[in-house]
Amino acid sequence: MSTNSLASTTRATMEACGVTASLDAGSLTVVSPLTGEAVASLATHSADDAKAMIRTAKQAFRQWRLVPAPRRGELVRLFGEELRKSKEDLGRMVSIEAGKSPSEGLGEVQEMIDICDFAVGLSRQLYGLTIATERPGHRMMETWHPLGVVGIITAFNFPCAPWAWNSALALVCGDPVIWKPSEKTPLTALACQAVLERALARFGEDAPEGLSQVLVGGPELGEALVTSEAVALISATGSTRMGRIVGPKVAERFGRSILELGGNNAGIVCPSADLDMTLRAVAFGAMGTAGQRCTTTRRLFVHESIYDQIVPALKKAYASVSVGNPLETNALVGPLIDKAAFDGMVEALNEAKEAGGTVHGGERQDVGPDTAYYVKPAIVEMPSQTGPVTRETFAPILYVMKYSDFDEAIEQHNDVGGGLSSSIFTTDLREMETFLSARGSDCGIANVNIGTSGAEIGGAFGGEKETGGGRESGSDAWRAYMRRATNTINYSRELPLAQGVSFDI
Ligand code: NAD
Repeated sequence: MSTNSLASTTRATMEACGVTASLDAGSLTVVSPLTGEAVASLATHSADDAKAMIRTAKQAFRQWRLVPAPRRGELVRLFGEELRKSKEDLGRMVSIEAGKSPSEGLGEVQEMIDICDFAVGLSRQLYGLTIATERPGHRMMETWHPLGVVGIITAFNFPCAPWAWNSALALVCGDPVIWKPSEKTPLTALACQAVLERALARFGEDAPEGLSQVLVGGPELGEALVTSEAVALISATGSTRMGRIVGPKVAERFGRSILELGGNNAGIVCPSADLDMTLRAVAFGAMGTAGQRCTTTRRLFVHESIYDQIVPALKKAYASVSVGNPLETNALVGPLIDKAAFDGMVEALNEAKEAGGTVHGGERQDVGPDTAYYVKPAIVEMPSQTGPVTRETFAPILYVMKYSDFDEAIEQHNDVGGGLSSSIFTTDLREMETFLSARGSDCGIANVNIGTSGAEIGGAFGGEKETGGGRESGSDAWRAYMRRATNTINYSRELPLAQGVSFDI
């Protein structure tokens, strides 16, 4: 596919989703990592536009919070239907903007559909507790109310699913949303918004204007959401660097935040592991999406007794993996997002060599134009967990280390800043349960005999430490989008005070 046809495919796909905005209008050039060339240029919003959107959203909140939750769920049900109709188109936009394979692009859209289904059910299950009270003739209960405007900031590598994880829940919880997508992937955001607008048109008058809005532009627009007192919750997905700026700013104004930041995810391969399964799980976890998932496997601790079986097999898989444009070929590994990502990978590999590592792979691949950055995934045998191993480099680098003592492997596993995802490969019950116990993995996601990436929407998604502590998607993550009131009702003719306090007047 030539650049021209990529640009025209982009236009046709955006149009099919219902986007009416001009794709030649402005200063934000959208580059496809598949070829490194421009596919559109968009007009950006200003700080004043952001303020106006926040005002509109605040107004929308006053109306939306009064619509019964199951009726709000109906909007999300319709959104799920519209997503199903546009699955192919949205998946293609994810591939064009983020460089993902068609199967990964479609998988991301499927996550949006899945969270809609989840949220529709949730709209009838926003349960509060009834709590035993110490006072006779009283009843105590919790009520969950809509929270307010939700600002959603997202990263380039998942251009749409994290928005849906947040917005599907926020909408059933009674909250309007304003989305600031990555400046690298605004087209997918506009396409998703157009699909939601189709659902809104079918839903009818209960939905106020400005229930869902998109801010196109850079970090300064994220900043406008972060610093606005009118934005009750900021859900920010991106680097730990971004979270270090955003988190304190939201906290300073006593706003609420969900931070979904970087990870430095690891697997431990134990002597009893099923080696064939482990090999496939690690290969996908480490090389899938060209190492550009927050849950990508970046470190591997392999027991010394099986090191000489698994590491050569991994090296072989790395050497033979296909790299290329996933829209034109069957390549399993697509491009890095841009030159900065490639430079970061080169720097990390150089540092690893200086720290005594042996690098296999990592070379730039001549499979696209000069403006695109395709690399052979790298596997690096390290003598210990030092240098670049302790940080997230957003590229396909897997650092492999040998261990002899299981407890020491867990110590090392936890001895990094990131706390997102983790895996153990074992058929030993004691090792497995220890890994999942309080003295095991300190991550928000701990898996057994599957890789670190590829979470399902039914579970709460997020991680600890420098990953930010936020949870979104399934389980009880919805609570972050609502405020809880504890209500005590006295249906007696007495006024007993709590804790037996007397105050007779
Ligand atoms: P990034 O931090 O550069 O940008 C993410 C978003 O934050 C963008 O929309 C950007 O405009 C915005 N932003 C940046 N600085 C800001 C500021 N000061 N105020 C407000 N907004 C600001 O991240 P990226 O390069 O797009 O994405 C890759 C990173 O995201 C990796 O570290 C990856 O691990 C992480 N990530 C985490 C998760 C998760 O769920 N934990 C999911 C996907 C990606």
